[in-house]
Amino acid sequence: MRILIIEDEQKIINFIKKGLEAEYYTVDFVLDGEDGYFKALNERYDLILLDVMLPKMNGFELTKKIRERGVKTPILMLTARDTVEDKVKGLNAGADDYLPKPFSFDELLARTRALLRRATTEKSNIIKIFDLKIDTASHEVARGNQKINMTSREYALLEYLARNKNMVLSRTRIAQHVWGYDFDTQTNIVDVYIRYLRKKIDEGFDKKLIQTVRGAGYKIGE
Ligand code: CA
Repeated sequence: MRILIIEDEQKIINFIKKGLEAEYYTVDFVLDGEDGYFKALNERYDLILLDVMLPKMNGFELTKKIRERGVKTPILMLTARDTVEDKVKGLNAGADDYLPKPFSFDELLARTRALLRRATTEKSNIIKIFDLKIDTASHEVARGNQKINMTSREYALLEYLARNKNMVLSRTRIAQHVWGYDFDTQTNIVDVYIRYLRKKIDEGFDKKLIQTVRGAGYKIGE
């Protein structure tokens, strides 16, 4: 699951990002409303955490504009302005939920999960590739009847490959998605993590699911 944070206070971003990454979510952030608007329009996210008071474009305006453009990504608004009027304004603009600051991480996580659950009830949470099963709601992974434990990065990498089943993904694309924009392209971190994944997913099984495509990158498929 991929989450976008639109917030101008770096301290709050760090606090949320660290917590969500520990819970196996992939997190991107931007620091103003305009950047948030472009990212929300042009990239696919499962949830947007949106501050109201933002430079360049406020959260109400941003919500209204992306809804007008047909973006249905759930939005959880975060704001210090805890008045009924603002709550109504946010929900009317097209936000799905509202969380007043200061909030505890546990509450943010509970609401995040609830929104993601709501958004995925019509769709299945399970991605299946041969006998590999990935539950994108609970983040449980199993091959056959064997449950597989993973670190948060390993899971994020596996989910990204699985969501793009049978598609070749370049190392750069994988790195940007799983490690974010501050990623140093000189490292071989993708190869290292693919090795970890192979150990957990493919080792001991006749059928290998993770494939190296020479000169291009990696893919997962049957
Ligand atoms: Ca703010």
